[in-house]
Amino acid sequence: MQNFINVILPIPLEKLFTYAITAAQADFLLPGMRVAVPFGKSKIYTGLVHHLHTKPPEVYEAKEIHEILDDFPIVNETQLKHWQWIADYYMCTLGEVFRSALPSAFLLESETLILKNEKAEVNEMDLKDDEFLIFEALQHQAILKVHEVAAIVDRKHVLPVLNRLIEKKVILLKEELYEQYKPKLVRYVKLGRAYQAEENLEKLLESLTRAPKQSQVILSLFQLQATTKKPIKISELEAISGGSRAVIKALIDKHILEEYNIRRDRVVYEGSDENADLKSLNTYQESAFKDIEEAFKANKTTLLQGVTSSGKTEVYVKLIEACIQTGKQALYLLPEIALTTQLIGRLQTYFGEKVAVYHSKYNVQERVEVWNNVVARKPKAQIVIGARSSLFLPFSALGLILVDEEHEGSFKQFDPAPRYHARDAAIVLARLHGANILLGSATPSIETFNNAKTGKYGYANITRRYGNVLMPDIEIVDIKEQSRKRRMKGHFSERLLEEITATLVLGEQVILFQNRRGYAPIVECTSCGHSPQCPNCDVSLTYHQYKKELRCHYCGYHMALQESCQACGSSTLDTKGFGTEQVEHELGGLFPDAKVGRMDLDTTRGKHGYERIITAFEQQELDILVGTQMLTKGLDFRNVNLVGIMNADSLLNFPDYRAHERSFQLLTQVAGRAGRTKKRGKVIIQSYNPHHQILQQVSTNNYEEMFKEQVFEREQYKYPPVNRIIKITFKHKEYNKLNEAAAWFSKALRNAFGGSVLGPEFPPVARIRNQYLKNVLVKIDSERSLRQTKGNIKRIEKSFKAIAYYRSVRVIYNVDHI
Ligand code: ADP
Ligand code: ZN
Ligand code: ZN
Repeated sequence: MQNFINVILPIPLEKLFTYAITAAQADFLLPGMRVAVPFGKSKIYTGLVHHLHTKPPEVYEAKEIHEILDDFPIVNETQLKHWQWIADYYMCTLGEVFRSALPSAFLLESETLILKNEKAEVNEMDLKDDEFLIFEALQHQAILKVHEVAAIVDRKHVLPVLNRLIEKKVILLKEELYEQYKPKLVRYVKLGRAYQAEENLEKLLESLTRAPKQSQVILSLFQLQATTKKPIKISELEAISGGSRAVIKALIDKHILEEYNIRRDRVVYEGSDENADLKSLNTYQESAFKDIEEAFKANKTTLLQGVTSSGKTEVYVKLIEACIQTGKQALYLLPEIALTTQLIGRLQTYFGEKVAVYHSKYNVQERVEVWNNVVARKPKAQIVIGARSSLFLPFSALGLILVDEEHEGSFKQFDPAPRYHARDAAIVLARLHGANILLGSATPSIETFNNAKTGKYGYANITRRYGNVLMPDIEIVDIKEQSRKRRMKGHFSERLLEEITATLVLGEQVILFQNRRGYAPIVECTSCGHSPQCPNCDVSLTYHQYKKELRCHYCGYHMALQESCQACGSSTLDTKGFGTEQVEHELGGLFPDAKVGRMDLDTTRGKHGYERIITAFEQQELDILVGTQMLTKGLDFRNVNLVGIMNADSLLNFPDYRAHERSFQLLTQVAGRAGRTKKRGKVIIQSYNPHHQILQQVSTNNYEEMFKEQVFEREQYKYPPVNRIIKITFKHKEYNKLNEAAAWFSKALRNAFGGSVLGPEFPPVARIRNQYLKNVLVKIDSERSLRQTKGNIKRIEKSFKAIAYYRSVRVIYNVDHI
């Protein structure tokens, strides 16, 4: 009897692929182990064993596997079930889920490019012969392909040796290149602990009378401390005291001064063994905690709605503690991990080493390490904080999932498939594990709040900020009126300028929000009206003043700014609209003494980009921070008392049925950064449309009213949560073919589903990277089966792909598109 395995390949195949195995291999193999397999004429892939069986495939002869890559399963049965759900629900293949679920280091294939790890300190003695050969080859050649490696070690099957080299940190994979970036550490000093008491200090100064340079340094430190509450940089102390580095170092060596870095590291926890005690909850938190426990007892997915700065995190911490005491694993999901240095620090002070962090900005080794720790159920990874991909870790005993900021759109993966919503996939994962799941937000999504209202979800809330700090005072400024009266300076109203001045005078900080990066989104010739467009996309180029460049935000195309109009040659170029760069620039003129920083996609590239800016702001090296929506995500700054929203209208006018919900969430979240300690914060919202209902609802913190209005509107127009939607995008480089294909497909959809099909329509940016796009929306009401509808759509796709002329048109499904 011949043995076979069905294997998931990391490519979009509709079916699993069958390979032949020997009896010995059949004894050894288990579902969830990796195997290297041949595919097509010459390709090698890493595949995953799905199941073993004895039935030969009918239409092809099963090939043999090359080799087994694991000693034990690295993926468990629960994961396989979860992946299957994702593939079915989001209309993609298991292979696509597999590819995005595993760290790329687990997926070596014939096309993988291998580089030497420049940072590694390799001890050649630790390398086996074959490992050494590859290591040596990489000293002469920057990049190796898998088949070249095969030639070097003179055998066909090389994935195992490459896996070993990854583990030994000798090699990197091509896509890991961006990891070369090194964080810049800033070093600070403070007085050693023993000398912080006054009486010891006097003794210290006496003892230093014979070391005048050292005592001068200490005196300078005092002066600095008296004038600023900010941490003191070594370089600063050096400059002011006139003492050299050596003098400062001598003081550090004597423990009179203490040196520290400001950068909390992630995977490696450098703190002490003692963990801080959990904070005790106040009565509001306590009562929310009880409600959550009750809802968990009833096995309900639960929503915690707590206003900004109500201390939701402390409630999560309590839940995590309860979970890990039972020996189970806890997963803390965040929309964007890059912004969470603060949170990681907070959790590490409670749980120390038990906290692991997982996300795609980590390099191969770090990700593999976390994966292996979770497989082995090491205490080191009992609590995982991560972005959406951490859902795919090999948890075997998950007890709790927290989805923080559950309303965030970035929980939905946009590209490539699987286009899953991490919150929803987390709910399914929790069900598979019998785990509890809590969704948290100050501004829940309409869907989630609706589920809480109808009783499908449990519900708990906290309506007060911690310490009874008042919600910020929100003032709306009519900039139409202000412009008419010529009271605007650049994009700043008089009111905003007054408030900024007052805040800076008190030594407090300001956040300014503008949801566009760059200097200006459009450059226009005032003579002929021409504005430079991207050659690859149907969109205007954004002006970036800093680099004197025009950039496309869709494909990255850029060119130098022209002195004169390319169409008519006149030099009457003007800009329209404004972005963060322009706000920063204007601030330079208005507040020349203030230190201004900017946080947007352009200033936060690289692994530690965010961290640097956030730390600088936290440490009050910056007075004003200008930023895009990145600023909204759960940051807890102590000294911010003013938040200014430069222009609310671009959010409100966005052409999408969620624009109002999103604006409410975004504005409430940004506003929530103001006045988080003691003093009531101030928020100024500038708008041309000050009476807009959403602005009124934000300023009165009236979530309920916003919810009611939005649900009413969505019932009218049949949008979620009343209906479900599937967005189908067609993509092709030929305009005519795309149009015909989209028309054919939509006609077939209409025949099947009638009036619940909208489109096809071009999106606002109808061409990206030289590909034209067209969308169709299928709305599915609660009466109709989602599963059947998807089945029907897939059948239509089959007939569509049977037409040779359409075959090259890409069809992309986005279920629950947001
Ligand atoms: P949220 O996540 O709801 O915006 P946070 O959890 O960040 O709020 O809490 C806001 C601030 O209040 C934090 O600095 C936190 O340390 C503090 N805080 C919250 N709850 C407590 C508590 N029970 N005891 C002491 N401090 C608390
Ligand atoms: Zn012109
Ligand atoms: Zn472009």
